[in-house]
Amino acid sequence: MDAVAPSEETLESEVSIPHFEELLEYRAEIDLDLIRDVMGGTAGSDIQRSVQVRGGDALAWYVTFHVRGAQWGIYMPLSSIAFMIGRVFSSINAAPEDLLKLAVRSLHQHELFHFAMDYASSQVEILTKRPCHKPARSLRDERYNYIVLEERLANANMIRSFWGRRLRGKTQALRDFVSMQPPGYRDAPQSTEGTAFRQDCDLLAGRYVNSVGEHSHQALSGLDGVGVLSKMPVDWRYCPIHVISDEHTCGLDSRWLDLFQRIEAVAESERFRKYLSRMPKPVQANWEEVKSRLSHTTAGAGLDFKFWKRTTEGSIYRKISR
Ligand SMILES: [Zn+2]
Repeated sequence: MDAVAPSEETLESEVSIPHFEELLEYRAEIDLDLIRDVMGGTAGSDIQRSVQVRGGDALAWYVTFHVRGAQWGIYMPLSSIAFMIGRVFSSINAAPEDLLKLAVRSLHQHELFHFAMDYASSQVEILTKRPCHKPARSLRDERYNYIVLEERLANANMIRSFWGRRLRGKTQALRDFVSMQPPGYRDAPQSTEGTAFRQDCDLLAGRYVNSVGEHSHQALSGLDGVGVLSKMPVDWRYCPIHVISDEHTCGLDSRWLDLFQRIEAVAESERFRKYLSRMPKPVQANWEEVKSRLSHTTAGAGLDFKFWKRTTEGSIYRKISR
């Protein structure tokens, strides 16, 4: 059975949580050619090598809330998003915005599973009044220094989050992406199907529970992992996301992707002001209103704020007047 293939089962139908990447506002165009150029070269090969050694966690990572002194949450470098678009999803013929959403989702959904396990371990700690996060480190495989089953399920969670989305080439791209990764990560297809996924999640949660020691059985009265893991899909709204602006490290400049959501100040050139002063009063009033609205969001209805072209001095955006 091809466990990576799309299934009738869709996660969206189980819980009505909006997807994080669907809520992002992409108002400007993404330079797909530039991303594919950069990621098709040395920069992409370097990132790919680290994925082959460290799995998906080479691209994004989760920092636990159990450790003080670090900002907990999911960390997502822009270079990794570019890698997913330009290398992993390079053969998918889709709008750049759709590829961007796929890229963000794939990184996010893997890490979100680590958050779910972290959350489960805190549930065990509350119920048993014993530490679980630290003893659960003993579940790590000595050869790889990670929990093999957890990485398998994190990648399975990622694959499952793509079900129900019809995009030609998506399945093969995901299959290739997962198979290039180390043991555990690459075994995700064995755990994607509904029953296998649930059983393996319970198995992993049970191992977390057992890592607490004998005391856990008494306090959890035989729950054995079932019940400490939150319902899937995980509600991402409980986990902070940190986007790292590191695109310069792989040769992309900050213009490749614009995620900005508002423009707080607009500087008008002398020429523009002269031109505007000759325009009818309603046009002038409209421009004032546009500036005010852009200071709140670039995505407002009717604003039509779009990327136009790239010049040596920077990117040019246009606002279509109505
Ligand atoms: Zn992982």
